[in-house]
Amino acid sequence: MKIGVLALQGAVAEHIRSLELAGAEAVTVKRVEQLEEIDGIVIPGGESTTIGKLMRKYGFIEALQQFSAQGKPLFGTCAGLIVLAERIAGHDQAHLSLMNMTVSRNAFGRQRESFETDLDVKGIDEPIRAVFIRAPLIQEVGEGVEVLSVYHDEIVTARQGHLLACSFHPELTDDYRLHQYFVDMVAQSLAAAK
Ligand code: GLN
Repeated sequence: MKIGVLALQGAVAEHIRSLELAGAEAVTVKRVEQLEEIDGIVIPGGESTTIGKLMRKYGFIEALQQFSAQGKPLFGTCAGLIVLAERIAGHDQAHLSLMNMTVSRNAFGRQRESFETDLDVKGIDEPIRAVFIRAPLIQEVGEGVEVLSVYHDEIVTARQGHLLACSFHPELTDDYRLHQYFVDMVAQSLAAAK
């Protein structure tokens, strides 16, 4: 199993490390051709407008939509969550437009630019350590989307079949259990494809 981390902008090396700790082979992805060699991909945090622009420039929008259509898992963290969403509050244009949800950018307010907390996540036994940095939240989910975690009544982790998204940065701590969750999703999609 090989999992890619989209390396156009944002926190890449930490995701590679967390995926490796979770037992996967991990590679950075900079060209669309590389999508053929991988079984799942992480879209990291950073700045979603910049990531979206670079994705358009290098042909990643269509290529990743095809990747998803093959049932291959995608995991968007923070800005990556925004990139996966079908709807971004206050913006006309979405990016990959894959997950049936509306997201709100920089939703925790300036006074709470960044913070850490322990978070219950459905499917993971003990709370995970979550780092939020100018984080988005999920305002509303549509049909087919399962809420996996909530922070102060706000949705911060969700899954739609082979798509996983979280508001926070799971790669910035030693707690790699959400990466493990994603690695398990990729293993299941490989088993189902056989
Ligand atoms: N605020 C950023 C955005 O809107 C996301 C922040 C992050 O990825 N840490 O794109």
